[in-house]
Amino acid sequence: MEHVRCPHPAMVVNVETESDVAITVKYCASKGIPFVAQNGGVGWAATFDLGAYGVLIDLARLNQVTFNADKTRATIGGGARINETIAHASAAGALVETGNCNCVGALGAILGGGYGNLMGLYGFGVDNVVSMRVVTADGRIRDVTAASDADLFWALRGAGPNLGIVTSAVVKSYPVSQAGMLAWTGSLIFTPDKLEQVVQAIQDLELKPEMNIFLYFGTPPRDGLPLPVYMPSGRPRIAQPCSPTSRGTRAVTAFALPGGRKPSYTVAMQNLVPSTWRQVWDKYVEFQKLPTAENSVVLMEAYSLTKARSFGSGSAAFSHRDVNFNAVIILWYSDVALDDRAQVVGKAARDLWKATDGLARDATYINFAHGDEPLDVVYGDSLSRLRDIKHRIDPKDNFNQWFNIK
Ligand SMILES: Cc1cc2nc3c(=O)[nH]c(=O)nc-3n(C[C@H](O)[C@H](O)[C@H](O)COP(=O)(O)OP(=O)(O)OC[C@H]3O[C@@H](n4cnc5c(N)ncnc54)[C@H](O)[C@@H]3O)c2cc1C
Repeated sequence: MEHVRCPHPAMVVNVETESDVAITVKYCASKGIPFVAQNGGVGWAATFDLGAYGVLIDLARLNQVTFNADKTRATIGGGARINETIAHASAAGALVETGNCNCVGALGAILGGGYGNLMGLYGFGVDNVVSMRVVTADGRIRDVTAASDADLFWALRGAGPNLGIVTSAVVKSYPVSQAGMLAWTGSLIFTPDKLEQVVQAIQDLELKPEMNIFLYFGTPPRDGLPLPVYMPSGRPRIAQPCSPTSRGTRAVTAFALPGGRKPSYTVAMQNLVPSTWRQVWDKYVEFQKLPTAENSVVLMEAYSLTKARSFGSGSAAFSHRDVNFNAVIILWYSDVALDDRAQVVGKAARDLWKATDGLARDATYINFAHGDEPLDVVYGDSLSRLRDIKHRIDPKDNFNQWFNIK
């Protein structure tokens, strides 16, 4: 079932220290045993294949998050989740650029790029990394900085899981007052007939650094389109294209909940084309009516990207700074008989988006990718340099579970 794969290890190693990680990696590499690290455990790509005797290295106990005295640097353990990282940041009185959902691994998200609520202010997760402690296939624990190994430092920030296990990373942090930790977030709900107008309004919206906006097709569709808006400070003034049926805060489909089958298909876009979104809506509604499929969701994210683009397109291996939007369809169901149907609908939605994505060539955010995308779509212009670095750092291709660069 290529489109709903997750790691099925023969053994789980619960590491307590980075030496445990080094010993486990060295042993597995020397014996040719497939292995993979797990941080938040929500990586959904269909690229995992541990075979019959693979090992999962669970980093959960490496979940320490500490701050330096003036709170300008945070050290995030390789097993810390986003909720743990934010709880420590909040206690310290600092902001740290993480992804948005509690359950996700903080470094799991950052190593692929790292979209998050603060990126309009501080850039992508990769832009905030100062140094990393990394276990490579030879069992060495390396301190990697731009000065110690510029190539590896560049490559880890976009393709980290292909090169080693990051046991901890030092990232920039931003001290704030109590008031600076407050954010405004809310949602507007529209009836489905407003879809084109809503999509066009998001396309036309000029996001300020403090803002981001998501569009969901949520459950059930008769409730309309929830449109969450996030602002770290103050209320956004969005010229509303049409009247929402409700405003305020509201729970939207929680696709972070465990369980079920959730094959996901994604695409990056330069433009949002309303008629394309209508076609995707029709496919979504049709699938969502099927038994057990009512929690399926479509999600589109838009962030303010000016700050992130100021770091430069080649500054990290993450290579899709130029795209404006990411869209994902998550077909969520429990009936195995729907697997094939979900695959057809997911691919069809992706094809529809791709046909009008406005990009010169296809692009996909690695952390949202399905797993069947060509490597140049995932890694973009970084692929050839990544291959050279991969051959130097992991010549036997032991780190081969995540969009493997051979
Ligand atoms: C509910 C939800 C919300 C999300 N929100 C965001 C978001 O706001 N921003 C965003 O950018 N992405 C987001 N994502 C995507 C997320 O970044 C990816 O799913 C990511 O791969 C998850 O990382 P993880 O550590 O949780 O998963 P895992 O399955 O543990 O890891 C995924 C891959 O990364 C590798 N990996 C993880 N940690 C390390 C490490 N320390 N060293 C080396 N390799 C490692 C693993 O080996 C695996 O190959 C979201 C995903 C979900 C399901």
